[in-house]
Amino acid sequence: MNKAFLKQLKKIVSAENMLTDASECLTYGYDNSRRQAQPVAVVFPKTEQQVQQIIVACNQYKIPVIGRGRGTGTTGATVPVNNELIISFERMNKIIKIEADNRSMDVEPGVTNLEIQQCAAEHGLFWAPDPTSAAFCTVGGNLAYNSAGPRAVKYGTCRENTSGLRAVTGNGDIIQCGTHTSKGVVGYDLTRLIIGSEGNLALITQATLKLLPMPTAKHTLKSSYLSVDAAARAVSNIMAQAVTPCALEFMDKNALDMVRDYSSTELPDNAAAMLMIEVDGHAETIQTESEIVIAACKVDGHITTELAKTKEDAAALWQTRKALSPSLRKIAPKKINEDVVVPVSNIPPLINGLNDLSNIHKIKIVNFGHAGNGNIHVNLLVNPDNENEMQAAENCLNDVFDLVLKLNGSLSGEHGVGLEKRDFIKKELGATEINLMHQIKQVFDKNNILNPGKTLPEI
Ligand SMILES: Cc1cc2nc3c(=O)[nH]c(=O)nc-3n(C[C@H](O)[C@H](O)[C@H](O)COP(=O)(O)OP(=O)(O)OC[C@H]3O[C@@H](n4cnc5c(N)ncnc54)[C@H](O)[C@@H]3O)c2cc1C
Repeated sequence: MNKAFLKQLKKIVSAENMLTDASECLTYGYDNSRRQAQPVAVVFPKTEQQVQQIIVACNQYKIPVIGRGRGTGTTGATVPVNNELIISFERMNKIIKIEADNRSMDVEPGVTNLEIQQCAAEHGLFWAPDPTSAAFCTVGGNLAYNSAGPRAVKYGTCRENTSGLRAVTGNGDIIQCGTHTSKGVVGYDLTRLIIGSEGNLALITQATLKLLPMPTAKHTLKSSYLSVDAAARAVSNIMAQAVTPCALEFMDKNALDMVRDYSSTELPDNAAAMLMIEVDGHAETIQTESEIVIAACKVDGHITTELAKTKEDAAALWQTRKALSPSLRKIAPKKINEDVVVPVSNIPPLINGLNDLSNIHKIKIVNFGHAGNGNIHVNLLVNPDNENEMQAAENCLNDVFDLVLKLNGSLSGEHGVGLEKRDFIKKELGATEINLMHQIKQVFDKNNILNPGKTLPEI
């Protein structure tokens, strides 16, 4: 390793904010994709100025670098496959200020999503992006991936809920983009460009988040169906009327079988699919609004819709939904987890098509996810020790993506591209668009030091 580079880093952040021992660096070399590689070193800057100085040093010594929140990302974007330097943002974790009257909050990138929600809640406010990993993941990671969660169906993703950023580009320039206001049209929208760019253009050092008033009432509903097709038709029906639920989650039969095994939530024996629906609003109007949603649930093949009677019942239902992904991981540690998205009206052909592909390739597929956005987590359960099965899964995945694109969808609704999907996105984006993205990257990061080789495929 370049000793002069390490010496320079030590000068910038000081020895106690730096790891160089291989065994200590190890834990910063993986994410939830289960890929692993060894970083050259890990630094923990505490200020924007330090981040800038680190990037300048990386340019000087041509050392590639990756910004890291908490490594909960699922696509390998933080894995240092080129022995990169890791900049961990966990010590830039201050809530700088909250302005309840302006419904805004300024934060450093290492604050967790949960800490943001807790601070906002003290003022009767919330930040809409709510990934299931909220207790662990950081706002920097949320923004870099444009992560979302169940609430996106009503309130949108990070892009719709962030008004401005400060960041250090790959060239080492500090930039401030967006506004501290709820409107603003001056210049190109660099905020939205950087959000979702997977730490590939600039490292976020501060964000101005748009907060929303907390609803005063919430109803949680559980709706079961005789077939997946019926549930999918109900989703379209619910989204076509005026009361937008704040969560509209879907589970297919395989997911329900897991729920039956792992939780106390009761389900009718003949249920082949379930929707979990949450309606929020004012205490005075919530009853009427949930009745409207319940009416929209009642398509052919509907079995029953039940309202959670207590807060504990509602919490148990959410717990069941949140446990699905980790439980699947236990059964199939190497499961292939995709998060495709289609227009809501195309959920029925998507689910039917996935069932056909499961039969053709003889791969068990479990589907659940944020149906209100058409964002379905497609889990291919595979045994990595079975070569034939792995080959079948690869062919199946290819067909899944073709199906999604045929249905006017997109390969990822929230998990991003990273390494896992990089080589597939040519299916979705044209050569001209990919070329333009490479040119944009070049403008932000002329030495290609920020997370090289991720997110964009070669042209
Ligand atoms: C159990 C579980 C449930 C999950 N549920 C959801 C869900 O419901 N919805 C969802 O969208 N995702 C979900 N995820 C995925 C993951 O939690 C999110 O993608 C999350 O936003 C990642 O945050 P992180 O802090 O861990 O970021 P990391 O994984 O550390 O990094 C993610 C990306 O952000 C970049 N990055 C990090 N910090 C910065 C910064 N300051 N500036 C620029 N780039 C930066 C990294 O380089 C990388 O490209 C889940 C993951 C798990 C394990």
